[in-house]
Amino acid sequence: MSPAEIEARDAICRAALSLFDRGLTAGSSGNVSVRLDDGWLITPTNSSLGRLDPARLSRLDASGRHVSGDPPSKEVFLHEAMYAERPRSRAIVHLHSTYAAAVSCMDGLDCDSCIPPLTPYFAMKIGRLPLVPYHRPGDRRLAEAIRARACRHCAVLLANHGPVVAGASLEAAVNAAEELEETAKLFLLLRAVPTRVLGDADLAELDATFGPAGADG
Ligand code: ZN
Repeated sequence: MSPAEIEARDAICRAALSLFDRGLTAGSSGNVSVRLDDGWLITPTNSSLGRLDPARLSRLDASGRHVSGDPPSKEVFLHEAMYAERPRSRAIVHLHSTYAAAVSCMDGLDCDSCIPPLTPYFAMKIGRLPLVPYHRPGDRRLAEAIRARACRHCAVLLANHGPVVAGASLEAAVNAAEELEETAKLFLLLRAVPTRVLGDADLAELDATFGPAGADG
């Protein structure tokens, strides 16, 4: 096993434990993956992100075939769809985190931007967040719906489910997933409050200064 793979296994377990300890995943929900040069690693099916063993992570080859470790998460195809459209993404975090999941259940969302750009940090890390229409767990049409959006967006929100966030590194994907969750919380706190969201000029200035959100992952 390469030093890079050993480090990636440890990094997945550390990040997953941190997410679990702070209540961003519960039960056996949520999954984390890292792309390697010849395939990828993903958290196993029915595993708690708080109790992972680096040696038992699922190892997939470059074609997505399970080659070692425990069987992969049943949601592995969500990751596969994002990676297929985002060749520079090196890691993906999928959560059922409470506030983002709550927003994902709301009616009347803007499907092209379902959480508005309330702060520059959300605009820089996530950008526009599309809502992917509901499909039952395991329905392969969900993968197609993600692929249709992933080439232009580093993160998507699955309706009645939760976010899928890609990054140029595992740390970047985790940070972006946390920013998304915090902004979902703000969005819900502000539901009944007249709110100023960032305007087109504000967003253009951020793009020009810092580059478009998720461009490197
Ligand atoms: Zn899920």
